[in-house]
Amino acid sequence: MLNNNKKRTRTYDAEGRIFQEKWKLNNFFLEHRGAPVCLICNELVAIMNDYNLRRHYKIRHNDDFGKFEGRMREDKLASLKKNLAVQQNICNKVSWQTDAAMRASYEVAVAIAKQGKPFTDGEFVKSCMMKVVEHICPEKNEQFGTISLLKQTVTHHVEDKASNLHQQLERELQKSLSGTLLLLMRALTYQTQHSC
Ligand SMILES: [Zn+2]
Repeated sequence: MLNNNKKRTRTYDAEGRIFQEKWKLNNFFLEHRGAPVCLICNELVAIMNDYNLRRHYKIRHNDDFGKFEGRMREDKLASLKKNLAVQQNICNKVSWQTDAAMRASYEVAVAIAKQGKPFTDGEFVKSCMMKVVEHICPEKNEQFGTISLLKQTVTHHVEDKASNLHQQLERELQKSLSGTLLLLMRALTYQTQHSC
């Protein structure tokens, strides 16, 4: 009975592996919806095994986090857990990343339009950006990959921008027209008053 209960709360990956407690302190991982998630960079590791989690930690984070030992390491784990509040933060992070990718895509599209470049240049800009990422911060590859600069995306953003500008212009025109009308009315009133 106890075993059955345990099974319900434990998480298994596709190959039936169970998340091991030691991965928390050794590699700063927690489990989230059946997958191990790194508490340091929030990345999910597809296959839950000792080798993969150890490798992720060693390559990405050991330089910065290897110095934490014993009690300090436990404290670090506790603060990472607390700060990230993993269960909710993963969702927040995903949505933040999506927003950030959307904003980045919009800004690049507007820059392309301002320079009078063809909208198809978005794809070229993206390929250059991915080359830079590959050399400077390969761990961000996936994140940058979500920035869409396809021709139709660029077109969509530029249309949005144009429609915003149009609305802004209309508002300004209305303001200045009503200002001009007011001046005309005053001038007419003055003329009428002084022509008698
Ligand atoms: Zn990580």
